[in-house]
Amino acid sequence: MRRTSKLGLFGGTFNPVHLGHLQAGEEVYRKAQLDRILFIPSYIPPHKKVRNIAPAEHRLAMLRLALAGRQEFIPSAIEIEDHRTSYSIFTLRKIKRLYPRAEPFFLIGVDAFLDIETWKDYELVLEESNFLVMSRPGYQLAEVKKVLAKRWQSKVAWLEEGEQLDLLAPDYTIFLVEINALPISASEVRERARRGESIAGLVPAAVADYIRQHRLYQDKP
Ligand code: ATP
Ligand code: MG
Repeated sequence: MRRTSKLGLFGGTFNPVHLGHLQAGEEVYRKAQLDRILFIPSYIPPHKKVRNIAPAEHRLAMLRLALAGRQEFIPSAIEIEDHRTSYSIFTLRKIKRLYPRAEPFFLIGVDAFLDIETWKDYELVLEESNFLVMSRPGYQLAEVKKVLAKRWQSKVAWLEEGEQLDLLAPDYTIFLVEINALPISASEVRERARRGESIAGLVPAAVADYIRQHRLYQDKP
């Protein structure tokens, strides 16, 4: 009897990783009984004019610090090393080659999931993977069904506390997970760092030290 492992894929800019990401990861890891979670920072193409995005190496280094000592949480350079726009469909196909026996589950905040129809080949991503959609202050998980076409709506299920995900899958593939999401965003962390304010309590201490040492998120003179 060979059980396939449940592999979480937690993508984001992680600019920088903060305690809201870690708390969300812990809670979903437990509720969905995942085996591992890959934290996957996106690569930002150099020609894209996005303000205040730390270089990929820094964002990955901060993830390594934040996840040190948490064996099942793994920082992954899978998108960064490709040096191109990070589309989920590319990432998913790559993951399937690298981990052919794992069942993939994207971890995603409801704010990000509500944009799914703008993703490249999003129907293929929905078809070929599972989603764990996490609550976040200011957004409603109940909105998820409204952005999906009928055929996907029937794939949506609430994952309640104590419920076995394995009993809902594979009939359901999009799981709504109410979590104790922390009211923390990377935007707030960057803004506080820029103003020279403390970011203690928003990011792990090692990440705060790293931001200070490398003078990240400061206005360039
Ligand atoms: P920014 O303010 O720069 O947008 P962010 O805090 O939203 O940063 P991202 O890297 O954009 O962080 O988010 C990556 C993923 O983590 C997204 O799916 C997002 O919804 C989720 N996420 C971020 N912060 C939280 C939080 N506090 N609670 C739950 N999910 C979160
Ligand atoms: Mg965001």
